[in-house]
Amino acid sequence: MEEEEDRIQNLRSKATELLLRKEWKDSIEVYSELISLCHDQISNPHQNLDPNNLPKLKKSLCLALCNRAEARLNLQDYPQALQDCNEASQIGNTHFKTLLCKGKIMLSLNQYGLALDCFKKASLDPNELENYEMLNGYLEKCKKFEFLSRTGAFDISDWVVNKFQGKPPELAEYIGSIEIKKSDISGRGLFATKNLDCGNLLLVTKAVAVERAIVPESVFQDSKEQAQLDMWKNFIDKILESIKKCVRTRDLIYKLSNGENEDDLEVPDIDLFRPVGEDSSTFHDKKIDKEKLLNILDVNSLVEELISAKVLGKNSDVHGIGLWILSSFINHSCDPNVRRSHIGDHVTIHACRDIKAGEELTFAYFDVFTPFRDREEKAKNWGFVCKCKRCNLEKGVSSNQEMMEIEMFLGKGLDNGGVVYRLEENMRRWMVRGKGKGYLRSSFWRVYSEVYESERSLRKWGSKVPLMENVLDSVVDAVGSDERIVKLLMRGLKRKNGHKGNGIVEMEKAMKLGRGLYDVEVLLRMLTYQKKPLVRSKNKKEGTLVHKNKAHTISSGLRVKYDESPSNK
Ligand SMILES: [Zn+2]
Repeated sequence: MEEEEDRIQNLRSKATELLLRKEWKDSIEVYSELISLCHDQISNPHQNLDPNNLPKLKKSLCLALCNRAEARLNLQDYPQALQDCNEASQIGNTHFKTLLCKGKIMLSLNQYGLALDCFKKASLDPNELENYEMLNGYLEKCKKFEFLSRTGAFDISDWVVNKFQGKPPELAEYIGSIEIKKSDISGRGLFATKNLDCGNLLLVTKAVAVERAIVPESVFQDSKEQAQLDMWKNFIDKILESIKKCVRTRDLIYKLSNGENEDDLEVPDIDLFRPVGEDSSTFHDKKIDKEKLLNILDVNSLVEELISAKVLGKNSDVHGIGLWILSSFINHSCDPNVRRSHIGDHVTIHACRDIKAGEELTFAYFDVFTPFRDREEKAKNWGFVCKCKRCNLEKGVSSNQEMMEIEMFLGKGLDNGGVVYRLEENMRRWMVRGKGKGYLRSSFWRVYSEVYESERSLRKWGSKVPLMENVLDSVVDAVGSDERIVKLLMRGLKRKNGHKGNGIVEMEKAMKLGRGLYDVEVLLRMLTYQKKPLVRSKNKKEGTLVHKNKAHTISSGLRVKYDESPSNK
């Protein structure tokens, strides 16, 4: 008996030391040994157990389980960590550490209500008053996340306005007014279930896994390719790791398309993707269909490339690849109605134009300002042919002699103003009207923006090219809002008006073009250099960062402030 007690004592100190050193894997091993030893001692009927010894043993077992749960939590092995907690609480129901650990697991699984229950129960423990502050921190966090996941009322404005300094804001997963249905574009898609305003938030979803690396633009092509291969390999390892740990993650990933028989795929209910109750299933022994998985990842993974992904707060040398399950259902269009932004490990999707109930949500898999032929090439690399309105129109005009001439001139470095002039003239001749003009102008965005940025070009071509504001309006109408459009507008207006500027006109124009870019509050604060929040979060409406109708009120209210802002001095 003495001997066993010593063994338990030794294992316990060894495991504690490993835990403190954050050597999770090793500590799990030692705790497992300790746990089975405790089990043996408790259940072995032949042992002459000292009656005083049983509670002591049970206490050791309970602590060991709880500490192993803590280590597993740190390795993000939530199902197994949860099993440990549940076993521990069967032994000692109100054990403070167990409740704390279970709360943290639930928080990581986005189960805010269940997490809140655990922390509340833990806070009732009279012996743990010194931990009150820490617990209170968790309680507040749960309440905040629960609110965010219910309403989608996020506020990222501080972070954006402070030029993405520090850690990205914490987000909770959110599913807005959307459903999954069969799509006319391809396979299945996400659809709006009610009318939406430009700027409405529709979805916030966290990556199953994301792998990032710094690949400087300046390195040789070979090393770049090698770096990308390494990234892809690490990414797949991470995905395998997370599906080994959780059946649910695996099942949700297998709902995604692997690129075959797109039209015969079942349409899963959107509710499957909401956080569920306790899911402690593990399937360490089940075989994973790796071939299918690789095909799924090939079709559904998104690269965090700066322009099309709107990766907020990262420099251009950071490359990343990730899998965000629900947003993978969104089909591509070069004429998109939603826009995705990457914030930390989350992807947020919001409307970049007004959307009608029943309309399919689409975003561009690559930069919306990519010219037609390059888009064709990129779509081919993704394994599809884009049949959106914009591509249809551009396909129609691309075989025109004049269009081929324009493209040839571009390649030969003809004056950009000349290209714009010819394109505009030809659009008139081809009778391209309305949105069509916006489509073509978006494809020639680089040329247009260079003309409007250059004093020399404007002096030479100013009277022969359309007004910048009209061009920008049509581009936003065609492809949705974009930072580059708002920036060009602001610079153009500043140049035109000198540094005095007409605050109200600038503001209203920028607001109009910037709707759907960020939320309105962020945009306003960026435009007006406000460091302090403009709208208290209680004014926010469900699914909207700031309600659209507020925009005008806010911009009127800001006129006074705007005139005092540094840009006008
Ligand atoms: Zn297209």
